[in-house]
Amino acid sequence: MTDRPPTALLDVEDLEVVLAAGATTGTVLDRISFSVDAGRTTGLIGESGSGKTMTAMALVQLLPAGARTAGHVWWREEDLLGARARRVRQVRGREIAVIFQDPLQALNPTQTVGRQIGEIPRRDGLSRDAVRAKVLELLDRVGIPDPEQRIDAYPHELSGGQRQRVMIAMALAGEPRLIIADEPTTALDVTTQARVLALIAGLREREGTALLLVSHDLRVMANVADDLVVMYAGRVAERGPARAVLDSPRHPYTRALANNVPSVRTRSAIARPLPGAPANPFDRPAGCAFHPRCPLVTDRCRTETPRLRELEPGRFSACHLAEEVTP
Ligand code: SF4
Repeated sequence: MTDRPPTALLDVEDLEVVLAAGATTGTVLDRISFSVDAGRTTGLIGESGSGKTMTAMALVQLLPAGARTAGHVWWREEDLLGARARRVRQVRGREIAVIFQDPLQALNPTQTVGRQIGEIPRRDGLSRDAVRAKVLELLDRVGIPDPEQRIDAYPHELSGGQRQRVMIAMALAGEPRLIIADEPTTALDVTTQARVLALIAGLREREGTALLLVSHDLRVMANVADDLVVMYAGRVAERGPARAVLDSPRHPYTRALANNVPSVRTRSAIARPLPGAPANPFDRPAGCAFHPRCPLVTDRCRTETPRLRELEPGRFSACHLAEEVTP
């Protein structure tokens, strides 16, 4: 514990992660800073490889073996990055719950869903009947039909949408203050996606739970996020209130993302990929990592890395020309 006064529920300050791949090492996360406030949804958005999932996993020390970290992850008044693994395990699942992308990988195939959802209530010393009642209530809350029938089912006996709901029920069992959801709807069909997202958004409203949502899908973010953190090549490109970021981006990368997604900024019905390939955090271009793809690039961009700076209260951009970016 420290005497640092809490400013947000979760405050990430200059988070760095260094990974080794063979003989080379790479700073895959480079000075990531953002915060998550109670009762709000913060979206981590970016293309594949931008570091958004790595960021989410670093917050709760779920990193590949050998990863080195620096910076701070303030959880209320405690720095989780410097905390012992045992303490982080206590926080994870209890105060901070994680909903993974692929429930089939995250759920134990040899245990019934009822047993898995009931793990925390059981650890709390509830009687067998009380655990069962709690699990049935959780299954009902996440919209699983016939909870009495489903409680004894194994994960493979459920549909993809139901498995994702089981993951959410597991997350809720510990009554967390923050839920980290990593692409929670990617594997689902469009209708089920909408239902699962509505369920997560409803929880935030009813329970005041904060949500950190990781997604590559800007349409999802436009619908549910209060605040956005846009990531590129393991760095924060831009962050601020979601509506302001989407309506008047202050980074050419955010603008390109928004302009290439149907129904966010354009009338186009088809998402077009961004031109050029995403930068590899193991081999970042010098200066601004986005410069090979940026229409506004100048000589300065090729040599000087732009730092994340506050343009107006709550709006940050890591672009030398942020003030000149037009929607
Ligand atoms: Fe483009 Fe330069 Fe801004 Fe990078 S710093 S996004 S290259 S204008």
